[in-house]
Amino acid sequence: MNFVIVRSFDNYIDANITLGRLQSEGVQGFLRDEYTVTIDPILSNAIGGIKLTVREQDAPKAMELLEGFDREKRAFFKCPNCGSNDVEFISTSRKASNWFSAILSFLIGSYAIAPNKVYHCFNCGHEFKELNNNGDSQSDGQ
Ligand SMILES: [Zn+2]
Repeated sequence: MNFVIVRSFDNYIDANITLGRLQSEGVQGFLRDEYTVTIDPILSNAIGGIKLTVREQDAPKAMELLEGFDREKRAFFKCPNCGSNDVEFISTSRKASNWFSAILSFLIGSYAIAPNKVYHCFNCGHEFKELNNNGDSQSDGQ
């Protein structure tokens, strides 16, 4: 069976959330080099970060889903300080259980935020606990 890399991440949380969402859509995949990146973030530049890898036959569907996630994310995450959409939901403690709850809250479209997690704006560096968006949850298909 052949596997192809559909995306690379430098963020452990984001990689796991995305993998979890793909799996919930029936796409089987796994993360490569995840361990190396977590241990040594500097090395992640050299090896291209955490690689999201899927079965070759699932790649077109995975790419399509990823585009949808990106669109959804841009609409969903917005920095209250500068208005940039270059915002990531990150954990400040990075415990194993945190990404799982992050996946859950992402999947159910909830704004529930556990302690130790913040939104970080990569444009201005602002960090904030809650999204001050227009408040609608963008969940389609329900
Ligand atoms: Zn900002």
